[in-house]
Amino acid sequence: MGQKNIAIVGGGPSGLMAAQVLAERGHAVTVYDGMPTVARKFLLAGKSGLNITHSEPYAAFAERFGNASPRLRAALDAFTPDDIRQWAADLGTRTFVGSSGRVFPEVMKASPLLRAWLKSLESRGVRILTRHRWTGFEGSALAFETPDGKTLVSVNATLLALGGASYPRLGSDAAWVSWLEKRGVSVAKFQPANCGFDVDWSEPFRDRFAGAALKGVTATSEAGTVPGEFVVSKSGIEGSLVYAHTSALRNRLSQGEPAELAVDLAPGRTVEKLAKDLGRFDSKTSFSNRLRKGAGLEGVKAAVLRELSPDAARLAPPDLAALIKALPIPVLRPRPIAEAISSAGGVTWAALDDSYMLKALPGTFIAGEMIDWEAPTGGYLLTACFGTGRAAARGIDRWLGQSA
Ligand SMILES: Cc1cc2nc3c(=O)[nH]c(=O)nc-3n(C[C@H](O)[C@H](O)[C@H](O)COP(=O)(O)OP(=O)(O)OC[C@H]3O[C@@H](n4cnc5c(N)ncnc54)[C@H](O)[C@@H]3O)c2cc1C
Repeated sequence: MGQKNIAIVGGGPSGLMAAQVLAERGHAVTVYDGMPTVARKFLLAGKSGLNITHSEPYAAFAERFGNASPRLRAALDAFTPDDIRQWAADLGTRTFVGSSGRVFPEVMKASPLLRAWLKSLESRGVRILTRHRWTGFEGSALAFETPDGKTLVSVNATLLALGGASYPRLGSDAAWVSWLEKRGVSVAKFQPANCGFDVDWSEPFRDRFAGAALKGVTATSEAGTVPGEFVVSKSGIEGSLVYAHTSALRNRLSQGEPAELAVDLAPGRTVEKLAKDLGRFDSKTSFSNRLRKGAGLEGVKAAVLRELSPDAARLAPPDLAALIKALPIPVLRPRPIAEAISSAGGVTWAALDDSYMLKALPGTFIAGEMIDWEAPTGGYLLTACFGTGRAAARGIDRWLGQSA
């Protein structure tokens, strides 16, 4: 069997991981990317430390992908969080487990890992052609816009790893949706995931508290009760604790129902204990002092309570305690997808076979965030991108073997 030519379109973590596997199996691999450099989103993820995977027990880990968990399972099993740590170590990047169980490179950035990865790909003969923007199919060929004009590429197999629809300025602009739909591929509408939400803050509250963090709280929605922290923004709320509730809040809003996050501002105390602690004061004690001394609330925590419940000062201690334990923050809408950490939606699972090949386009495979799955922040996103990249690469290898 002669060497087969494979085009990987999209040089993010999923495409590069597929390139690695296919090059290791002796194929001629070219990675095409529309941007001047590859993996821009991966590098940006490095700005906040590059949370590359998560150390929680694997059974729980593998369930973090909601409805998509069963479909992703084989890809995750074949490249587990431990394998990712080993892979990074092999590229000279040692990792550590943070207090939240999240895994980061010791250097808390992506660039050394990416540099070593690209070097190793190059040493295995992978060609990377940047400024090659895929513009769809022409017959069975792939069409690219390049600085030298249009070029058509014919290959034995293609992997599309074009990313989702968040942060389009980094390259993943989802322009491909209609090109695939025209070829009979079903694509679920992209929606923001891991995003902030707008809240109707009053102007004084917004001016004074935008940027302030509410730490050591829990938040509850249909997604469950999650501990953590979030930030008051000019337009509403954002941060990892909010992201954990994105899909629950988004689903309610998309059905035209009101959506709110119930925040426990004093998770260390039961409502009974809090009511008792708040009942210790006489009527001369100011509300601020009651909140501070009775419930340990001051700064932004006390302010958000007053903002959302202007009559809170008049509540009896049991009612005030109940409010502090479940302060409803009504959210109006998710922030635009361009600001979201990731996106939900994409190529549907029904359009793919178990080897990540498009049923409508034999020989064309899909990996990464362009597939319809979502997960919270915590390293799950990159883990699934690496895993699906490898799974699609194995699929390509098998398919080329069969069609030899
Ligand atoms: C600010 C931020 C922080 C993040 N932090 C983390 C984190 O800490 N941990 C984590 O797990 N995840 C994190 N993520 C998410 C993670 O980076 C993405 O899920 C991941 O990069 C998706 O990988 P991908 O390979 O599927 O797509 P992408 O990384 O989006 O790569 C797709 C590539 O395809 C190229 N492309 C797109 N269209 C075309 C076209 N028509 N022609 C040619 N090339 C094209 C793009 O230029 C891009 O290089 C973060 C995301 C953001 C925005």
